[in-house]
Amino acid sequence: MDLHLTNRVAVVMAASKGLGAATARVFAQEGARVVISARNAEALRDTAQSIAHDTGATVLPVVADSSRADDIVRLIETARATFGTIDALVVNAGGPPSGRFVDFDDAVWQSAIDLTLMSAVRAARQAYAAMREQKSGSITFITSVGVKHTLDNLLLSNSLRLAVVGLAKTLSREFGPDNIRVNVICPGYTATDRIISLAQANAARNNTTVEDELAKVGSNVPLGRVADPMEFGRACVFLASPAAGYITGAALMVDGGMSRVM
Ligand code: NAP
Repeated sequence: MDLHLTNRVAVVMAASKGLGAATARVFAQEGARVVISARNAEALRDTAQSIAHDTGATVLPVVADSSRADDIVRLIETARATFGTIDALVVNAGGPPSGRFVDFDDAVWQSAIDLTLMSAVRAARQAYAAMREQKSGSITFITSVGVKHTLDNLLLSNSLRLAVVGLAKTLSREFGPDNIRVNVICPGYTATDRIISLAQANAARNNTTVEDELAKVGSNVPLGRVADPMEFGRACVFLASPAAGYITGAALMVDGGMSRVM
């Protein structure tokens, strides 16, 4: 199937590692020009070089913190100034801190709101200005399986990612007449550095191996394993691509069947 991404411009936020990097790599494999962001400049540059080397695509790294309004404006403006357009925006950021209700004061809530919810609001606002002019585009928010399957000890993520779902659903209606699609994609357990370092810590504590610990996590999933980041990347790029041209206002689970609801 042709995803119709050749020479299209994709912006993938928080993409020096993990789900974002895998998504950027698949866009590049499909012939898109890709802009990636993250906070650490060196890691971001290395990832951009690696993807460009492996795929032959143009990959532009822009250092930007997803939780900062001015960084998001600069990121989207740099993408537009460099490539003239933005066809696909994938909004991503690191996860907010884990914990329970009694653990968080207003300051922690506020920074989690900036990181998880306002990053989505601000990036969508900036991209909409570009996409409305060209009467096409897609915005995809990376959230979590937690939007359908509440995860213990992840109060901030459970709460704020559902706000992103509400944002996406509403924007799909407001932006539809401009031919701009808006969706969320919900990863389950995926073997990114984040999950692997957790498995390393558990392996050291339990005197097991990282593979044992990943297998334990996977055993709670109907497909019996954690996902490879590229499996997530392929699903995300399909959803963001013109090949998914009639899909908007959707929440796509990439969770191996973990959530019990549709
Ligand atoms: P990861 O492997 O730790 O990668 C995170 C990436 O985001 C890095 O490139 C990091 O680079 C960047 N980043 C973090 N905070 C940022 C910020 N404030 N501004 C810009 N870039 C930022 O994490 P991941 O597993 O890919 O997770 C990505 C998102 O999916 C997170 O929100 C996570 O909670 C969510 N999620 C992951 C899973 C999973 O199983 N992996 C499951 C459900 C949901 P810098 O540190 O240099 O900025």
